[in-house]
Amino acid sequence: MTSKRHTRIVQSGRRSHDWWGLVNPPICHGSTILFPDVAELEEATAHPFGRTFYGRMGTPTNFCFEEAVADLYRDEKNDATFAVATSSGLAAATIALTAYLKQGDEVLMADPVYGATRRFADVFLTSYGVTVTYFDPAQPLDDLINERVKVIFMESPGSLTFEVQDVPGVVSLARRHDIITVLDNTWATGLYFNPLALGVDIAVESATKYIVGHADAMLGVMVCGDESMARHLRRAAMLRGDAVSAERCYLGQRGIRTLPLRLRHHQTNAMTLATWLEKQPQVKRVCHPGLSSFKPFHELWKRDFRGASGLFALELMPCERSSVHKMLNGLHHFGIGYSWGGYESLILPVEPAKERTVTDWKDTGIMVRIHAGLEDVQDLMDDLRQGMALLKSC
Ligand SMILES: *Cc1c(COP(=O)(O)O)cnc(C)c1O
Repeated sequence: MTSKRHTRIVQSGRRSHDWWGLVNPPICHGSTILFPDVAELEEATAHPFGRTFYGRMGTPTNFCFEEAVADLYRDEKNDATFAVATSSGLAAATIALTAYLKQGDEVLMADPVYGATRRFADVFLTSYGVTVTYFDPAQPLDDLINERVKVIFMESPGSLTFEVQDVPGVVSLARRHDIITVLDNTWATGLYFNPLALGVDIAVESATKYIVGHADAMLGVMVCGDESMARHLRRAAMLRGDAVSAERCYLGQRGIRTLPLRLRHHQTNAMTLATWLEKQPQVKRVCHPGLSSFKPFHELWKRDFRGASGLFALELMPCERSSVHKMLNGLHHFGIGYSWGGYESLILPVEPAKERTVTDWKDTGIMVRIHAGLEDVQDLMDDLRQGMALLKSC
């Protein structure tokens, strides 16, 4: 029987009948898998994926998580989707990249890509003879295409600055030149944006963020709509030694069950704060794809996305940096720390100019990134109001 997305999110991958009826799968520990005889060992060795074979390739808890994520990306166009768990979001991005790049190749990367993905490309990919070329996410890529380009790596919206990309445009260009497309979909998750439905080959997510959703585990995932590609990605993860613990996969699959509820509330709180912040005299502009003022990216977001999550940034009017620190230190309801996607609100000063080589961020004021958590939004707003009163203009 076919079922709608939210029903599948509740049911996918649990296989309760295999676990004595338990609602959630047990955390299956395992390295060695026993086979009844040599013939079955040899058969399993010839087809090591898609079953328990050796701990590095996952246990049934991992498969449960992977099945639930794959289902998140299923739609009318992709009725078969495949997910491979990785030990972190960064591992998902880097394994997907290395799976399809070799010496002499070139990769095109969105300029606002997550900082550590960028450092991996600059440090590792270049030292292995891969050319890394960054592109402005607001510009067409046609002029950058040549026969050495094998992968285009997008992140939409981009980290820190939230530019939404014209994904169908990039995909149609890539298809014409047999280029693999990868998209970091951490911000929206498969729930609010499905890159596979727009023709992207591989979606990667830091499940550490919204899927785990409680700031208590590192986890990543690579998703695609092609079985042989999925096998290639799994082999790449396995050969890189990227073994994911069943505990983390347990937390990932548990997080998914409430993802729609949590994301809807993150969305509401973030939109409320962003809309209010936009009107404050201390704020120059707010970078949030859901705001109609965020041009030209809002239109692309409206066209392609099903919703917005809780993360956005704002640029302050010129003010003393020390007073910004005083504001952040004095907030009661916003934690200061890296990562995001948990149930709690966070705030962080960010400096995109340091991580851009193509897009120009030099003339901007001090930027602050906010993760709107699940608290009462009035408390969050009151807190920001008293904090911003401390800003000293300059
Ligand atoms: C956090 C993040 C990552 C890295 O994920 P980890 O799970 O922390 O390794 C990758 N991409 C984006 C957009 C992120 O925000």
